[in-house]
This record gives sequence, structure tokens and C-alpha cells, in this order.
Amino acid sequence: MSILVYLENWDGKFKKSSFELVSYAKAIADKAGTDVIALSIGEVSDNELQELSKYGATKVLKAQNDVYKILDNAIYSKTIATAAENNNCNIVVMGNNNTGKGLAPRIAVRLKAGLVSGATSLPVSIEPFQVQKNVFSGKAKGVQQVNTNNKVVTLSQNSYMLVENELPFACEDFDAGIQTEELKTEVVSVDKVTDKLLLSDADIVVSAGRGMKAPENWGPVEELAQVLGAATACSRPVSDEGWRGHEEHVGQTGKVIAPNLYFAFGISGAIQHLAGVSSSKVIVAVNTDAEAPIFGAADYGIIGDLKEVLPKFVEAAKSYKASL
Ligand SMILES: Cc1cc2nc3c(=O)[nH]c(=O)nc-3n(C[C@H](O)[C@H](O)[C@H](O)COP(=O)(O)OP(=O)(O)OC[C@H]3O[C@@H](n4cnc5c(N)ncnc54)[C@H](O)[C@@H]3O)c2cc1C
Repeated sequence: MSILVYLENWDGKFKKSSFELVSYAKAIADKAGTDVIALSIGEVSDNELQELSKYGATKVLKAQNDVYKILDNAIYSKTIATAAENNNCNIVVMGNNNTGKGLAPRIAVRLKAGLVSGATSLPVSIEPFQVQKNVFSGKAKGVQQVNTNNKVVTLSQNSYMLVENELPFACEDFDAGIQTEELKTEVVSVDKVTDKLLLSDADIVVSAGRGMKAPENWGPVEELAQVLGAATACSRPVSDEGWRGHEEHVGQTGKVIAPNLYFAFGISGAIQHLAGVSSSKVIVAVNTDAEAPIFGAADYGIIGDLKEVLPKFVEAAKSYKASL
């Protein structure tokens, strides 16, 4: 019984999160005394696939076919489930991003597998299979036990590290037998809302709340994000007011993110906001109110006026970048 890890690519390239997934699957495989098979769907060069071996995959299946040009959940989930069945894999691992959230339940149904959605650590135990995840909007951690023979696990962003583990490696073509007629989706047009870094992909997020007072004050937030190569985010009232687009809204009713570094400028830190950001590795908060709940979640806090503090962050970030 091997572990299958599905790796999404972006224009033929893997991201750091893909290699983290392989590292995570390898650590589960070590615990279970088995090996890791990676599955890549779509056009990816052999050199790029070779990178996966550095993190412990011993076999890479490449499924390349025109039907995969459109991310059709039915076709992708069938391909992944077929790869698991054909290769005797009883655990399937993938990211808990938009793609993983769409695919994992469908794969679980096909494989009659129990699903752990949003795991935050390695399985606590393999037999019985128990994995930790955040529950109650991140207020608590729960351990979920899966009793079915097959299991599907989606890993929360930034929950595992890169672990180099180079092993001999084989790359094979994989044909899941998908017919063109099975493709039921047609993409009519793609309109990019923004060219900015996506929140879900960002290592650093610069976020701001109602403490900014007005939309025209967002210049330094944008500038800090630009200097740091970060994405921008906001609290819900800010997007409700139309100061920022809804795609930036994080929290219980917005996006749930877990960047390495999260800046919160003028955000009170209401529980509904923290539900979306509390898994960030490091939180830096700036607020005039020493009693603001954001300071309970922050690793670093500055009690101060963002009108004074934010420009200093921008200058510090610029001189740091210039010194590199
Ligand atoms: C069902 C439900 C779901 C919700 N979902 C979400 C969600 O997904 N995401 C979300 O964000 N909220 C959500 N909310 C709203 C949430 O409860 C809070 O109202 C919201 O997060 C507050 O946003 P804020 O911190 O920007 O604004 P405020 O609460 O108004 O806080 C502004 C902060 O800025 C500080 N400040 C003011 N001036 C300055 C200054 N010059 N310098 C520095 N600091 C300053 C203040 O001290 C204050 O702490 C939800 C609420 C409900 C009921």
C-alpha cells in the first residue's frame, strides 16, 4: 500500500507548497512503512518532475492529455482515484486549496474513503488513522479518526515544511482512460480580475481594517505589499463598505489563509477575523488600542497610530530590500 500525492502545477511549474506536500506524504509513508507515488496532471517538463524526487517520491505518474487543459473536477477526480486504485494506494494526499477542496470529496466518494479536510499536522497515529485539524473556526484543534481502509487527506497551507530526501526515482506516463466526450466543461472566457499575487499563494500578507478610516488611505498598505512581494487583505467591514474588493476579505466568512507572515494594521481582531488568519506563522499587529483582541493573537504588537507606524514599515522594508 503506497501513498499517492496529487500535485497541482501552475503553467507547468510546481510551487513550494507542492514540494511540502511531497515531504508530508513521505513522512506519512515513513510512519506507515511504505513509499510515495506522486501524480502530476497536465503539461509539466521532465526536469520539473525530477524535482519531486528531492523530497522523497520514488515514482512520478504523469498524466498528459488535452482533456486536462481544463480543470474539470469530474475528470481530475476520476484520474486521481484511478491512479490510486491502479497503484495500490490507500492514502491520497493533496493541498487544501480551492482545487483540493473541489477534488477531495469526489475522490473520497469514488474510493469509498474517509476524508480529512484541512489536516494541520502529520497523523497522530497510522493505526487507527488519526489526524489533527483545526475546528470551530480555528478556536480549537480536533483529532479526526478515519476508519475506512482508503483515506483522503487535504493538508492546510503552511502546515508542513520542506524536507529534502532524495531517492531513486522513476517517471511513468499514466493513462486513466479518460475519453474526450467525458469533458463536460467548456471555458468560454477568462477575465483576470487582477494581476496581483493571490492571497492563497502569498507567503506574506499585508492586511488592514477599519482603522484605516478611508479607502484613499490604502497607499502605504499597497506600497508595503509591493516592496515585500506580499498580497493585500482586509477585514470584512472594509470590503462590505466597498473600500476594498471582496476577494481580499479574510475571516470566517471570507478566505482562510495561513501565510508565514501576516500584518494587521488597524484591525481589532474579532473572533470572526481571527478564524481566517490565526494559522499564520507570525502575526504582526499595529493598533492604537492596547486592549484590542488582535494583540492576543499577535506574535509582535505595536500600540501606535498606523498613520505614523505604517510609513516606517515601508521605509524599513525598502532599506532592507536595498541592502540585499
Ligand atoms: C457572522 C459574522 C461573520 C463575520 N465574518 C467576518 C470575517 O470573515 N472577517 C472579518 O474581518 N470580520 C468578520 N465579521 C465582523 C467582525 O465581527 C468584526 O466586526 C470585524 O472584523 C471588525 O473589523 P475591523 O477590525 O476592521 O474594524 P473595527 O472593529 O472597527 O476595528 C478597527 C480597529 O482599528 C483600530 N484603530 C483605529 N484607528 C487606528 C489608527 N489610527 N491606528 C491603529 N489602529 C487604529 C481600533 O483600535 C480598532 O481596534 C463577522 C461578523 C459576524 C457577525
